[in-house]
Amino acid sequence: MEILRKQFLQHVGQTSDSPLMIEVARAEGIYFYEPGTAACPEGKRYVDLISGVSVSNVGHGNPAVVEAVCAQARDYMHIMVYGEMVERPQVKYAAAIASLLPAPLESVYFVNSGAEAVEGALKLAKRYTHRTEIVSFLNAYHGSTHGSMSVMGGETFVGAYRPLLPDTRKLHYNCFDDLAQITERTACVLVEPVQGESGVRPPLPGFLDALRQRCSEVGALLIFDEIQTGFGRSGAMFALERYRVTPDILCLAKALGGGMPLGAFVSSNEIMAGLQSDPPLGHITTFGGHPVCCAAGLAALNYITEHNLAAEAEPKGALFEALLGDHPTVVEIRRSGLLLAVELGSSERLFRAMALLKEAGYLSDWFLFCDTAFRISPPLVITEEQIRTCCADIRREVLDKL
Ligand code: PLP
Repeated sequence: MEILRKQFLQHVGQTSDSPLMIEVARAEGIYFYEPGTAACPEGKRYVDLISGVSVSNVGHGNPAVVEAVCAQARDYMHIMVYGEMVERPQVKYAAAIASLLPAPLESVYFVNSGAEAVEGALKLAKRYTHRTEIVSFLNAYHGSTHGSMSVMGGETFVGAYRPLLPDTRKLHYNCFDDLAQITERTACVLVEPVQGESGVRPPLPGFLDALRQRCSEVGALLIFDEIQTGFGRSGAMFALERYRVTPDILCLAKALGGGMPLGAFVSSNEIMAGLQSDPPLGHITTFGGHPVCCAAGLAALNYITEHNLAAEAEPKGALFEALLGDHPTVVEIRRSGLLLAVELGSSERLFRAMALLKEAGYLSDWFLFCDTAFRISPPLVITEEQIRTCCADIRREVLDKL
């Protein structure tokens, strides 16, 4: 085995026994490339069908983002732990995010990752309500730290780490009857407006409204996890716009940093004040809201807005659905904007499809709680022509061979 791959297996901590092992040399737009070889001087090209799991919404190597990163790195990088200094990229980005959200979501607390955003949101809800019960949903994924695992809705990945946070309760997503289990004891309800890792499950009509109503009735805070759906993926800048439901706290990450690591939880100034005093320093983070990450995120957000990428995600997703959905091996396509699960009906078929996709130069993935469907969530910059080429390739090189 070639030396770099050997070192990868020996010195880079592994998270599964079957890593993809594709060496990345460079990336641009919807493509990334392996290093060149004598037989293929350009390096094998892959179409990124998953955007690093809903991160690279503005495409790889987006010049606006690269320029913002370089400029900010030249000005200054880390100065002081989060929350002490007035750092222009952080302030400008927080203001830009707030300007896109409904009132009273105006205070942005920057952190490093999605899991940390969820941790911060759960802590904030406990502080504000003085309650302890946390409600979440089966087949939900919210991150891999102890707190976020405590609200994960599946036992497979969680069992080995018990005991986790006490006083948690899991409801069935899209089950109206279960909402009665949210009570005056409940501090908060954490929900993905569109469940991602369950294999793309959009909400039933009225479900999020009913959830909002129940939370308001009993005084529980409603937390939306838009870590995967945010920044245009669902066909609106945020899924909360699509479903016209305003949470009390919103968690963001992934595409938030435009390709750099960044997370945030957003709330009203009144609720956010809970972290400030008695005791102060309710959430502490050294690198949260790193100026380079905020500069990258702001450039990416501006790019999404200027190029209308959020609105275009819906017709682009619909085109994928139309071009693949009628293939006889496809059982169904579940979709929200440009986040699709192509359901093949069995894990054997799915694993064969994954191998064929890789061979054909397509990077896809399945879902943590659904190993019968593959994911299509390419950079939002993908063009109609590229979608037509992708679908023709996938039909010919993958679906026809299953
Ligand atoms: N929430 C959702 C909906 C996610 O999809 C993820 C990651 O896949 C997370 C939270 C965790 O984010 P991170 O991996 O940045 O901790």
